[in-house]
Amino acid sequence: MTTDYSLHTHTFGFDGRNTEEQMIIAARARGMKTLGFSNHFIVHPYIKKSRMYGYAVRGGYSNIYNDSVENAIKLFSVHYDNVRNLREKYTDMNILCGMEMDWFQYDGWRDVVNYAVRRLNPDYVIGAMHFIDRGPDGVLNVHDIRNANPRDSGRLLREYYQNLMKLAAFDWRDMGFKFNWIAHFDLPKKVGLNYRDMEHASLTELAKYQMPIELNLSLIMNHNYLILSDIFDKISDLGLPVVISDDAHDTARIGADFDSMLRIAGTHGIKNVCVKSDMLKKFVGVRTY
Ligand SMILES: [Zn+2]
Ligand SMILES: [Zn+2]
Repeated sequence: MTTDYSLHTHTFGFDGRNTEEQMIIAARARGMKTLGFSNHFIVHPYIKKSRMYGYAVRGGYSNIYNDSVENAIKLFSVHYDNVRNLREKYTDMNILCGMEMDWFQYDGWRDVVNYAVRRLNPDYVIGAMHFIDRGPDGVLNVHDIRNANPRDSGRLLREYYQNLMKLAAFDWRDMGFKFNWIAHFDLPKKVGLNYRDMEHASLTELAKYQMPIELNLSLIMNHNYLILSDIFDKISDLGLPVVISDDAHDTARIGADFDSMLRIAGTHGIKNVCVKSDMLKKFVGVRTY
């Protein structure tokens, strides 16, 4: 049994390497019934002041970092039009318009994202936390946390997970949408930053609010499986709902390690796993066509 959906993907024009159509063709060849696009929706008034913005400019993907919501909406409108046209062409697949939205604590974030979601009407929104907010100085990413001096690094890592706990407890009541699940909650591990107690505390908080998480294989690829095995046990204990994901930034990554992910989940007794497309609605409330 393998997974027949892929919902965490990125495309050309954002920070992915392939076009929407190339991604669809690759997903279809791999037997996917559902393919969702989840490009980065990142709006922060001072994002361009951040150190990482310079890297993004040189890397050619700086348009994913927006200080204006209108710019982000413009980018997504073109992309969604494209995807909706392709949906008419590839009718044997369930093709979805999603987004991976960064959560921030600045004043006005609620209004900004509510407005964007109303305008764009995505089929699902993955919540993500790639940054620590530094107000007028912009944001810090996980590389900045790792590269800080040792004392600051530990403090910042703690702050990262404290923010994640605030995200878990976020009040969605007067929002027009809710995150369908949380992407790579253990993102700092990607750069080798581990903080067992805070990882566990965050998972406990996410479970308290029944927020589903994804098991994202790109983290396992780069890191020692043993570092993660402890997290899998905790997820199993808490019974958190789990979505399988790959965070594909190109065609090669689509569904690349889904089988090993399912095997690992089984080994650790994780039962609440969304395996098939027809479970998505119940598990994470994704709109389907
Ligand atoms: Zn990305
Ligand atoms: Zn991400």
